[in-house]
Amino acid sequence: MSDGAIGPAEVEAVVARVVSARVRARGAYHVAESAGLVKLDAMENPYGWPADLVDAWLERLRAVPLNRYPDPRAPGLRARLRAVMGVPAGMDLMLGNGSDELIQVVLLACGGEGSVVLAPEPSFAMYRVCSEALGREFVAVPLDEPDFSLDAARAVDAIARHRPAVVFLAYPNNPTGALPEASAVEAIIRAAPGAVVVDEAYEPFAGNTFMPALAAHPNLLVMRTVSKLGLAGLRLGVLAGHPAWLHELDKVRLPYNVNVLTEASGEFALEHYEVLRAQTARIVADREVLRRELEGFNRLTVWPSHANFLLVRAPAGEGPGVVRGLRERGVLVKDLDGAGPGLDDCLRVSVGTPEENRAFLEALRAVI
Ligand SMILES: *Cc1c(COP(=O)(O)O)cnc(C)c1O
Repeated sequence: MSDGAIGPAEVEAVVARVVSARVRARGAYHVAESAGLVKLDAMENPYGWPADLVDAWLERLRAVPLNRYPDPRAPGLRARLRAVMGVPAGMDLMLGNGSDELIQVVLLACGGEGSVVLAPEPSFAMYRVCSEALGREFVAVPLDEPDFSLDAARAVDAIARHRPAVVFLAYPNNPTGALPEASAVEAIIRAAPGAVVVDEAYEPFAGNTFMPALAAHPNLLVMRTVSKLGLAGLRLGVLAGHPAWLHELDKVRLPYNVNVLTEASGEFALEHYEVLRAQTARIVADREVLRRELEGFNRLTVWPSHANFLLVRAPAGEGPGVVRGLRERGVLVKDLDGAGPGLDDCLRVSVGTPEENRAFLEALRAVI
């Protein structure tokens, strides 16, 4: 009925009245348009699968019943995940729609409105985003400059003062690529009165893990994802921990959060784990080639990395212009200027194929 139609202002008035001020004050997470660009902004594995593997995968999917809800037990997928991730016997797993969802699950279950969540900064943006969206007080512990190392004494002191319900530690860290000292992580786990989530998204490139330490700590949870391994499109994350923890966290997980296509495809992919491992080994080798090339630019700073990306600083005041210049030349990287303490004029570049890395370097030479 067109004569009863309302205008946008009337809708906006209702939205403004009903949606919480906390949410209205936020910006949305921005995903850059990437069509036609060399995409080096999101830590994706640049490699696909050989054609025979794609055929075998599609054959597997034929049998997946789309009319049925997924099986939350997913025994085949879980067994593969336990094996490749080295989950200790006696520990449970929760699967998530990406580890992003698991961050949200931990926060939903722990602390409550007004409680404190603590993490180093700069680090993974979703720790703060999810905390603030749920009304938690987010306390950032600044990393040391210029190497972005984690100062255990500073973190332990902040934990003593703020008594966080949850601590997030990315190991290695994003966007710096630094691997915190294991002794610093250990000190934080011991000092924290609440849960400590060690986020090992980049374990495929670093190899270091707190998985075996689960048995030694009552407050430790270890988070993994298959995204950086080469399966970002699947959206599959893993949280490992003591059964008593996962028993409670499971109550706030939505019942069918991992879909049937992800379950079947994840299991299939992990049956061919050696393909993904070969790709990550290639990426690590190419990262070092790219890092040496970047060190050859005397106007840039590049940090060592334990992940599949490099953090790069452009000359003072030029960071955003460099990112724009790269995009104009067909290369997409992540602009980090202003994204956290110590990140002025920084950009983050994922390690691509050798051809993509060359395209990036060529564009960079033209811009710098
Ligand atoms: C990419 C990333 C994640 C998110 O992984 P998804 O499983 O794709 O949601 C989590 N933690 C860190 C540190 C990351 O860099």
